[in-house]
Amino acid sequence: MLNVTAIETFYGPSQALFGVDLSVQAGEMMALMGRNGMGKTTTIRSIFGLTPPRRGSITFELQELHRLPSYRIAQAGLGLVPEGRRCFANLSVRENLLVTARSGRWNLARVESLFPRLAERRQQMANTLSGGEQQMLAIGRALMTNPSLLVLDEATEGLAPVIRQEIWAAIRALKAEGQSTLIVDKSLAELLPVADRCTILEKGRTVWTGEPGALDDTIRDRYLGV
Ligand code: ATP
Repeated sequence: MLNVTAIETFYGPSQALFGVDLSVQAGEMMALMGRNGMGKTTTIRSIFGLTPPRRGSITFELQELHRLPSYRIAQAGLGLVPEGRRCFANLSVRENLLVTARSGRWNLARVESLFPRLAERRQQMANTLSGGEQQMLAIGRALMTNPSLLVLDEATEGLAPVIRQEIWAAIRALKAEGQSTLIVDKSLAELLPVADRCTILEKGRTVWTGEPGALDDTIRDRYLGV
């Protein structure tokens, strides 16, 4: 479905990615892992054309995404839940969801049933929500675009434990219905059981890809240890 091949991405003169390879198959939940600053967010920004790569290729369902503007990439079927959530602060919960809506299996009623807290807060402005509720809204907003591939950057970072559990339950529900997903999260205890495969980045390069069961202590210590 998604094939990222040997991308190199820069912030001005400073190179952040030196050759990232990554793929997501249809129906798969793919975990993108690595310590802080290794290039996970930059890889996601590259896929969405927010920081386009200078070299390499990105194809999605056989369409070349590289050099397309971000809105065309979204139209091609990629839905982003960005780091920091980026909800529209002065729109209500309902407006945040409707503004991105496209027809498909996800609609307001289904998003509200996935996250009942959003139904309770339907008329509230997004900037009055807690961080966890904003994350639910950001996930709901991405689902409302009916994406073929959902991309979650830091799915549960900085959230209270009870809210994190609600979000992981929603992610498991998405997996159960075969939603293709690329997901970044620091909590390996929750991420690994839902992941079909993992790709690990180290200093802007892909260093390992495999199934979670093959992730032994040596690889964990070398690439994921603190
Ligand atoms: P984290 O888990 O901390 O979010 P990450 O794996 O997502 O880390 P990135 O945010 O992609 O890592 O950062 C990769 C590299 O790019 C780092 O060296 C970082 O300092 C650099 N970088 C990130 N954003 C910028 C920017 N706006 N300008 C310059 N360098 C940047």
